[in-house]
Amino acid sequence: LNRDLETLRDEACETLDGHRLRLWVNTGLMVDVARSLERGAEGVGLYRTEVPFLLRERFPTEEEQRQIYREQLEAFAPRPVTMRTLDIGGDKALSYFPIEEENPFLGWRGIRVTLDHPEILLAQVRAMLKANAGLGNLRIMLPMVSNVVELDEALVLIHRSHRELVQEGLDIPLPPVGVMVEVPAAVYQAAAFARRVDFLSVGSNDLTQYLLAVDRNNARVSDLYHAFHPAVLEALVAVVAGGRSEGKPVNICGELAGDPLASVLLLAMGFDVLSMNATSLPRVKKAIRSISHAEAVEVLAEVRGLDNSRDVQRRLETLLMDRG
Ligand code: PEP
Ligand code: MG
Repeated sequence: LNRDLETLRDEACETLDGHRLRLWVNTGLMVDVARSLERGAEGVGLYRTEVPFLLRERFPTEEEQRQIYREQLEAFAPRPVTMRTLDIGGDKALSYFPIEEENPFLGWRGIRVTLDHPEILLAQVRAMLKANAGLGNLRIMLPMVSNVVELDEALVLIHRSHRELVQEGLDIPLPPVGVMVEVPAAVYQAAAFARRVDFLSVGSNDLTQYLLAVDRNNARVSDLYHAFHPAVLEALVAVVAGGRSEGKPVNICGELAGDPLASVLLLAMGFDVLSMNATSLPRVKKAIRSISHAEAVEVLAEVRGLDNSRDVQRRLETLLMDRG
């Protein structure tokens, strides 16, 4: 298997008929970096900045953050690194910033917290922009956005941070900014979001949870958590259409992207980048290399005619089983 991994690392992620797909990784800790590079990651589609925040007893200062972000950017340069702004709340609680709520997944989460505390967002963005000096591979991504007002407010803060640093004498570029599509409302607003930013990225973990009204961490209802639910698949198709209509790339960075069966559908839907845990990367690459784009498109059309996740799963299993 190790030899297999090594050969695969240097092979292109390309279908039998020559269609290329970019495979990136999700990271949080420095240990993810080595693992990702070993497996031939072409970029980072999701760096979860809350991870270093979760490992501390207080908010890291701007300078501490700059050093953490610099390490990530340097390790992957010149490959792009997509840093998501702080996504706390829901299931992710900081001991030094407790949030008590009845329905945390519908409450104060992600962008909602940082727009109410712009000083947190500003320090974070300043640290990211400074860390990017001389490298230029930073991308910034906003979590849990459910309307364009939040997006516009966050963009104002990002632009303000950039302007301030330039005034302080730093010669740094404004990086590409993207938004996550992980709330059902965002699916219907995909084009409006795409008009304002440089890329979209689907967070399929939360999108599945919210579309199906199934808590992603509740074992009692885990039987109902199906990313192959036809409603989820149609939502993904709609997001790609929304991004495309504005000429913007559409990526995906939820667990679904690391599922070889799903990767066939995501390829056919037209996703530009699949971002996953490094451990999933070789298996997804293998799946993509075993099929043609034309075949994937046919299977997607077939699967969109099915009305339940079990049949979708079976159809995909049959397809890939033939490939060994
Ligand atoms: C997601 O929701 O799919 C996602 C990638 O973000 P997280 O898992 O960190 O909520
Ligand atoms: Mg999420």
